Amino acid sequence: MKTAFLTGITGQDGAYLAKFLLEKGYRVAGLVPRRSTVDRWRLEYLNIAEEVEYKDGDLLDLSSLVRAIKESKAQEVYHLGAQSFVGSSWEQPILTAHVTGMGVLHVLEAIREVDPGIKMYQASSSELYGLIQEPRQSEETPFYPRSPYAVSKLFGYWMTKNYRESFQMHACNGILFNHESPLRGMEFVTRKVTHAVARIVHKKQQELRLGNIQAKRDWGFAGDYVEAMWLMLQQEVPDDFVIATGKTSTVEEMCRIAFDYVGLNYQDYVVIDPALYRPAEVDVLLGNPEKAKRELGWTPKTKLEQLIHMMVEADLQRVAKMG
Ligand code: NDP
Ligand code: GDP
Repeated sequence: MKTAFLTGITGQDGAYLAKFLLEKGYRVAGLVPRRSTVDRWRLEYLNIAEEVEYKDGDLLDLSSLVRAIKESKAQEVYHLGAQSFVGSSWEQPILTAHVTGMGVLHVLEAIREVDPGIKMYQASSSELYGLIQEPRQSEETPFYPRSPYAVSKLFGYWMTKNYRESFQMHACNGILFNHESPLRGMEFVTRKVTHAVARIVHKKQQELRLGNIQAKRDWGFAGDYVEAMWLMLQQEVPDDFVIATGKTSTVEEMCRIAFDYVGLNYQDYVVIDPALYRPAEVDVLLGNPEKAKRELGWTPKTKLEQLIHMMVEADLQRVAKMG
């Protein structure tokens, strides 16, 4: 039986990946930063909270990572933990650099210390492309990060590549474009919209305040994307892969889909709030997942409409339950 160790196991991707690996017969252990209360709602939502082993530790504490990875006896480490919200990275740039940037180096060093033969997945991001240098971004497209979050991810990307080249570690960067689900954090725009739609239907909210609705993203379903993470670690030779749908839509179009689903017109509810504009925007992202298709045999399965409908449906149920 193989063992996987996940950082960020309580996050969106951690929960879906843990479920995917448990279904493959893995033993799954995960790092849990010790806060006043540990929130396992995502693992509970997927009915796997009791099937996972938890190890106390923090990405900022190298010794805790060494101990947790050693104790887990994992052959594969999926590094998903991060301060992952671009918007907050301007409010907390130093924390973001420590957690999202240095955290990667801590994980790499912990693996190097415990057993450099352990395979490692690094959660890199399409935010690396930022001010895009090509209309469709592939593994060859130059990076131009546009936020403290993206600059921190750039550090993690290169450290991962450097440890692969320096110490022959099986370390891979998954350059994942935005991926969403009913387990997405409420601060991200898709979930903010689907949650607002549910609250509007239940008469708990009258309007939805948004920033730049002309921004375009290549949105996929997190449940599809975790399979690609696993596939990367099953290859003979470690490499970096773009994971995306190859389609891009505006935030406005995504809103239209969400409101249409419940028979409402988004224009009656959406209010543009300039305070929600970002200091530097990533106007458009569009991924080219050809290499992942060719070399991993991976393709996205869920279309944007299906994804947004699934999220609205889940939020309608949650809001109804809360009364
Ligand atoms: P989430 O924000 O849902 O999860 C982040 C996880 O990191 C949480 O489990 C959180 O724990 C944990 N974490 C935060 N700070 C620390 C810390 N100091 N020590 C240990 N753990 C910590 O992110 P996602 O699941 O959406 O994303 C997974 C990874 O993929 C992230 O690295 C993200 O940046 C990256 N990514 C995500 C994309 C997306 O569209 N979702 C796109 C591209 C990359 P807690 O909940 O206790 O705070
Ligand atoms: P990101 O791509 O990781 O930054 O994911 P987000 O979901 O946070 O943002 C996607 C896009 O939606 C960005 O271009 C934001 O500027 C835009 N956007 C517009 N209004 C909002 C809003 O109210 N909240 C968030 N989070 N993003 C918004």
